[in-house]
Parts: sequence; C-alpha cells; structure tokens
Amino acid sequence: MKIGFVGLGNMGAPMAANLVRAGHAVTGFDVTGTGPAGVAMAASAAAAARDAEVVITMLPDGAILRRVAAEVIPAMSPGAVLCDCSTVDVETARAVAAQAAAAGCAALDAPVSGGVGGAAAGTLTFMVGGPAAAFDRVRPLFEVMGKKAVHCGDAGAGQAAKICNNMILGVTMIATCEAFALADKLGLERQKMFDVVSTSSGQSWSMNTYCPAPGVGPVSPADNGYRPGFAAELMLKDLRLSQQAAEAADADTPMGRLAAELYRQFVEEEGGRGMDFSAMLPRFEKRSRA
Ligand code: NAD
Repeated sequence: MKIGFVGLGNMGAPMAANLVRAGHAVTGFDVTGTGPAGVAMAASAAAAARDAEVVITMLPDGAILRRVAAEVIPAMSPGAVLCDCSTVDVETARAVAAQAAAAGCAALDAPVSGGVGGAAAGTLTFMVGGPAAAFDRVRPLFEVMGKKAVHCGDAGAGQAAKICNNMILGVTMIATCEAFALADKLGLERQKMFDVVSTSSGQSWSMNTYCPAPGVGPVSPADNGYRPGFAAELMLKDLRLSQQAAEAADADTPMGRLAAELYRQFVEEEGGRGMDFSAMLPRFEKRSRA
C-alpha cells in the first residue's frame, strides 16, 4: 500500500519501520526532518499525504492533530483513509472525522496501547472508531503494526476506549502502590503480598504484569530504577483527557479525578516527570498519613 506517515517520534518511527519491513511504500513527515531507514521523507505533511491510500498520524496531542489534519485532508485523494493513532480528546477525533468526511475521505481514530516496546515489536493493540469499511481497509496495516485491532464503534469510540482503559490503569496502579506502602508499614514482605494479591481478588495488570515493587513479580520498570516504560507525564495526559471527557459527558468519576490530581502532584511538584508511572510506589513509601 502507499502510506503517508506524519509524526515519526518514539512511537511513529518504529511503527513506520514495521510497515516498510512488511513491503509497504511509506512517505513520512516530521517537523524534526528525521525518520527511520526506508521511509521516504517529504517536505511537508501535505506532501506525505498526497497520493497515499492511507495517511497515518502519530502526534503529541489534539491541538497538533487538528493543525496537521487541516493541512493533510485537502491534499488527500478522495476515498483515502486518515488513520490517527495518537491519543487525543474525543471531541478532536470527532471533529477530524467530520472534516475528512466533508472532503470525501474517511477517518479513523485508532489510539494504541503497548508503548514503545509494542511499537517496535509490532504487538500494539489498536482501539478503533470510525466507519467499518475504513477499518477493513486499514486492517492489514494494523496487523503489521500490532497484534490486535478492535473496532469499537463510530468516530471517537477508539479514543473513548483508550481513556477509559487508562483511567482504570491509573487508578489501579495508585491502589496497588498505596497497598504495598501500607503492607510495608504492617511488616508484610512484598513477595508475600505479591503471592497473595496476584492470585486473589485484588489482582490487576498493575500487580500481576507490571508490579511496581522491584524484585517482585515479572520484570518491570521497577526493576530498572523506574525508567519508563510508560512515563508518569503520559499517564497524567491520559487521565486529564478522561476528566475532560467526563466533564463533557457529565459522568461522575471520583476515582479518576483523584488519580489525575495525584499524578499531577507527582509530575509537577514531586519530581515524577521522566519516571515510570509505577514510581508512585516510592512516592507513597516516603509519605505518612498526615
Ligand atoms: P513523540 O513526542 O516521541 O512523537 C511525536 C512526534 O510528532 C515527534 O517526533 C514530533 O516532532 C512530531 N510532530 C510534532 N508536531 C508535528 C507536526 N506539526 N507535524 C509533523 N510532526 C510533528 O511522542 P510518542 O511517544 O511517539 O507519542 C505519540 C502519541 O502516541 C501521543 O499521542 C501519545 O500519547 C501516544 N502514545 C504514546 C505511548 C508511549 O509509550 N510513548 C503509548 C501509547 C500512546
């Protein structure tokens, strides 16, 4: 397939490299001017999108996506698909989809889970909103870049799934870390805590797969000095998006709101920026109740 790829950062570069490896013709653009080997670099986002059957974007946030979409959509061939894999707000995903539809193109919001490791290994999970026909056209590319793609519904449904998932993740990571810190103060060994909780009703991905305690459970960023992994500031971004969506939809999300506030404090006031989001455990370790 002829693919345009805009945003070749930590995630986009390995995703584009996998498409090249699978034999697709990828033309890329990034404001840094650099891209992975095998990607033909264009002079602008519009130039990367011209003549492409699918244009993939992997950008930092919704405001940048809106700017790039405004440039790219008029350059796209009628019938081409704009597939945004960034994590952005639901409103932006819907606005971009409407703009694409007005220009005779289809748009998908297709945020991912799996992080930089999943992008490099081609094992991402895609959660996708938009027309079923567009999903079917892009499916072969999802299969190259990932291990699973779920069609979640209409425009915005992929972003909705992503922020709801990550709201659960943020809340369960905090709950797991505060429980470890309490167990420490009660004199319970961390290994015993893991052995019990990971096979009991307190289990979660945060405990079983990504255990925040070093030396306990499978290897995780905790075993690597809390180097990310999934950085605390990216978790904060996703929790803010879920709160923005909850406000717009008038949904009561007290745990999500508190998780967003705790990650805000951690990132902005407590040195958490650049650390893995599981570094909430050493944060709780140092604190007392008051
Ligand atoms: P990144 O900052 O490494 O990459 C973004 C790229 O977009 C950069 O290379 C930047 O130069 C480029 N860019 C910015 N403005 C541009 C423009 N106007 N035109 C063209 N290129 C532009 O970020 P990332 O880690 O690759 O994340 C990308 C998206 O994926 C984000 O929305 C993030 O929330 C989401 N995400 C990241 C992870 C992760 O673990 N890193 C996991 C899941 C989802």
